[in-house]
Amino acid sequence: MNDEDNIHKIKQATHIIHTANNLVAFTGAGISTDSGIPDFRSDVSGLWKRADIDPLEVASLFGFRRNPQTFYEWVRPLANTILNATPNSAHEALVTLETDGLLTSVITQNIDMLHTRAGNTNVYELHGHMRLTTCIRCYHEFDGVPILEQFLMDGLVPHCPDCGGVLKPNVILFGEQLPVRELRQAQEASKKCDVMLIIGSSLEVAPANQMPIIAKRNMAKIIIINLEETHLDHMADVVIHARAAQILPQILTHLQDVV
Ligand code: NAD
Repeated sequence: MNDEDNIHKIKQATHIIHTANNLVAFTGAGISTDSGIPDFRSDVSGLWKRADIDPLEVASLFGFRRNPQTFYEWVRPLANTILNATPNSAHEALVTLETDGLLTSVITQNIDMLHTRAGNTNVYELHGHMRLTTCIRCYHEFDGVPILEQFLMDGLVPHCPDCGGVLKPNVILFGEQLPVRELRQAQEASKKCDVMLIIGSSLEVAPANQMPIIAKRNMAKIIIINLEETHLDHMADVVIHARAAQILPQILTHLQDVV
């Protein structure tokens, strides 16, 4: 796509956002790659690509219960990157849209907490987060960040100070239900929005990828900003194949021109 095409699409997206009554963002790992956090399919971290490890096994609840040490060793590079990452201009643009009264909520598949750290206040984290950690025996919750930091230093699987059970970060592993309250709130937000802005998601992961379908079914306009094609591009009103951190600030600039 040439620059002129992109500018035209950015203007179209700006117009749709400007006239929205209820704008909801739906984000995936791609919004955070410019913060240095590799996405699901990236080769960079090797997290999902290591020949010796099956993520479906290691990053499953069953695998965690059987061998938490293997899980913690596997998640170490991602945890380290997330704890040191900062929001990029795409996250910041969503905060501006919220403070300007245009964006009502963010539905995210990300566990990196960058939307809340950037300052968005209405964030539904469908796949959990690293803010808290839970004992898999007594279910007591603890502040997750210092516990992960301690693990990054000593490499020891963290245990519950109350009962000695293993502590698991509040991220949703394969084989686990999505958090019911967040899922319901996200479904409700998807039903009510009249524009859904999809950013940096392959839209391959269910049931999160149902949110754009719910929105479309309820007549919402759909804008997709994603580096690669997705299987829902055909139903979107505007599709921009480019980096979110480049496009979203340009949309903000155009929005200033139309108000
Ligand atoms: P995905 O990896 O399946 O897809 C990411 C998409 O983002 C890709 O289509 C890619 O082309 C696009 N992309 C990459 N960089 C981009 C950029 N700078 N601008 C715009 N688009 C960009 O991600 P998903 O759909 O979120 O599903 C992956 C699963 O992995 C989710 O369940 C998520 O919880 C988890 N995950 C989360 C993180 C995180 O919290 N940051 C990181 C890795 C994986």
